[in-house]
Amino acid sequence: MARYTEAVCRMCRREGQKLFLKGDRCYSAKCAMEQRAFAPGQHGQSRSKTSEYGLQLREKQKAKRYYGLLESQFHGYFEMAERRPGQTGENLLSILESRLDNVVYRLGFAMSRAEARQLVSHGHFTVNGRKVNIPSYLVKPGMVITLKDSSKSLEKIKGNVEANAFRQAPKWLEYDNNNLSAKVVAVPAREDIDLPIEEHLIVELYSK
Ligand code: SF4
Repeated sequence: MARYTEAVCRMCRREGQKLFLKGDRCYSAKCAMEQRAFAPGQHGQSRSKTSEYGLQLREKQKAKRYYGLLESQFHGYFEMAERRPGQTGENLLSILESRLDNVVYRLGFAMSRAEARQLVSHGHFTVNGRKVNIPSYLVKPGMVITLKDSSKSLEKIKGNVEANAFRQAPKWLEYDNNNLSAKVVAVPAREDIDLPIEEHLIVELYSK
């Protein structure tokens, strides 16, 4: 499976904001955005006026990076969003949010989407009782995502669940703390997605 391998913190510095890609470290003083909050590279500290195209491009890159996707995967989701009724930008975010790795992250089983992707790939979760190890799997209303019994004792996952106990699951997921499972009760709506993404800029970019 192809994935992005550039130094993760460079992506936040490039976008000029924290993307929370590294779990605990993002909340600590070690965060690169706390120490070097400017774009990487030789001209990182020089300010230049951003064109309309530049703004659109940055917004798309930011969304891609939040969800840890490569261009081809991201563009595939955009085409899927276009085919759905309703607003393409909102459809796009709804689809991205429905990825199984994102769901695992949102439920607090992982500290970052990258970690969630790894946990899913290693087969720690079931959907409707069947093992699913595909991070891009799209969940739908009615499906139940469960941490496998054999994975409940894993120190890493136990620690994440404890650390995220304060975190509320989004309202489109009905979390069952006793069974460490969640039911998808709705399609994620734009207001359920707390990411600072201006999706209309992404639509404008791809519509050129
Ligand atoms: Fe971004 Fe986290 Fe790295 Fe900070 S520590 S720059 S938020 S990935």
